[in-house]
Amino acid sequence: MVHKALAWIDRELAALAERDLLRQVRTHGGPQGTFIELHGRELINFGSNDYLSLAGDARLAAAAKSALDREGCGSGASPLLAGHSAALAQLEARLADFEGTQAAIVFPSGFAANMGTIAALVGPGDAIFSDALNHASIVDGCRLSRAEVHVYRHGDCQSLAEELKTAASFRRRLIVTDSLFSMDGDLAPLAGLAGLAEQHDAMLMVDEAHATGVFGTSGRGACELSGVEQRVAVRVGTLSKALGAAGGFVCGGRSLIDWLMNRARPYVFSTALPPPMAAAGTAALDLIAAEPERRVQLLRRAQWLRDQLASRGWQTGQSASQIVPIVVGGARRAMELSARLVDRGVWVPAIRPPSVPDAGSRLRISVCHGHDDAMLGALLAALDECPR
Ligand SMILES: *Cc1c(COP(=O)(O)O)cnc(C)c1O
Repeated sequence: MVHKALAWIDRELAALAERDLLRQVRTHGGPQGTFIELHGRELINFGSNDYLSLAGDARLAAAAKSALDREGCGSGASPLLAGHSAALAQLEARLADFEGTQAAIVFPSGFAANMGTIAALVGPGDAIFSDALNHASIVDGCRLSRAEVHVYRHGDCQSLAEELKTAASFRRRLIVTDSLFSMDGDLAPLAGLAGLAEQHDAMLMVDEAHATGVFGTSGRGACELSGVEQRVAVRVGTLSKALGAAGGFVCGGRSLIDWLMNRARPYVFSTALPPPMAAAGTAALDLIAAEPERRVQLLRRAQWLRDQLASRGWQTGQSASQIVPIVVGGARRAMELSARLVDRGVWVPAIRPPSVPDAGSRLRISVCHGHDDAMLGALLAALDECPR
């Protein structure tokens, strides 16, 4: 029954459907992997952030099960009260070790990590300088902080320098960016950003959500790849994408982490990440260290796919990673292409507003380690049958 006071929602939903913008979840069976069962059909899955194909890995499940037997399912409380389990403490220690920082703090999600961290670092009287294509969790954290937000053009240090002209008039300054942009697959100009941060006495915060486990010699992300880790004050990441588990984290100096434990509200007021998930995260970090070939092969496959797409006339923009967008313009066309690919056994989600502007509607291909040559070939063959 529709509650009378909520009748407006049905009208809004109908308006979204009218514009091809209505979104629906599709429930899939079985573990996350390179195949996905949707609408009762088995499709090759190019819609997952499970970049290293670890989410369904038996070794992560075994680590989670063992923690489950030792420490149970729920964590029962926020970390500061009674919820900081041995498994969570171990994960934080392992993260600091992996990232080469003094300390690390784990949040229930990457979204919570960004919201909580930004609002803990700046407030009224401060200024944030934010890339125009930053993730929603960064955008929301900026709004929540009540600092003055200056949005600079995507990936454009010139535009940031322009915005920074008034920076000295604020109490504190925060420059914040994704390292690998989730809808375009391009990398932030990290060295340039670090230089500007130093020049203007600003804190530089980099969100490695899509890059952790994928980029850098040790798999620490794009900051490692660019050699700027020591120049980035605050590094954020998630255990929910390439690492195949769940939970967001911040790594950095001891005092930064102590501050966040005291002031980041999603840490203070949300129930701690449960022990089984913490143990899975620790196991994933061990696997990333032990199996560097996963990320090497992944990036090689992604490069091959981008080359193939380009030679077939598909535009993949500035992508330099495992995230390969095909911008097709218009939500309807993106939806039609996605549906055609489903007919041919391939799942590639259509990305439309509000994730991207309407004219930037696209197919977003996520290449994962488990995609073999036959799967990539099937994707290309399916695309070959679609109008450009
Ligand atoms: C996915 C994502 C997050 C959120 O991480 P979750 O662990 O899924 O909450 C944060 N930042 C970026 C750039 C992301 O893509």
